[in-house]
Amino acid sequence: MKERKQIGRMHPALVRHLPTMSTAVTHGQLIKLSCTWCKTTHRYEPADLMQLRGNVPFLNIEVNFRCSGCGKQEYLKSDLEVPSAKDRVGMTVRRLVEIKTVQRPVWKDVKL
Ligand SMILES: [Zn+2]
Repeated sequence: MKERKQIGRMHPALVRHLPTMSTAVTHGQLIKLSCTWCKTTHRYEPADLMQLRGNVPFLNIEVNFRCSGCGKQEYLKSDLEVPSAKDRVGMTVRRLVEIKTVQRPVWKDVKL
């Protein structure tokens, strides 16, 4: 988990007061990630992100992502959005379909 990188060196007492993914679920908010480089924008349900990262603070959530358009990480900006019922009609939201586990061999040279 990149939570440490996400919140930097903030004091733990302050971290407890940051809005988290569960706060966003409670308030019906969406996480909007925009790339200022290639202008790609995706919206995510915070409940889906909680399955991946846990109940992490919203602050700097973009450090956990790469742009699906250009692959760059440094141009991503995150925002919380509360779309009205009217705005939700026809809105595209990226939903989590499944989490795949990748098996990768790890080798080590040993002396016999
Ligand atoms: Zn991009």
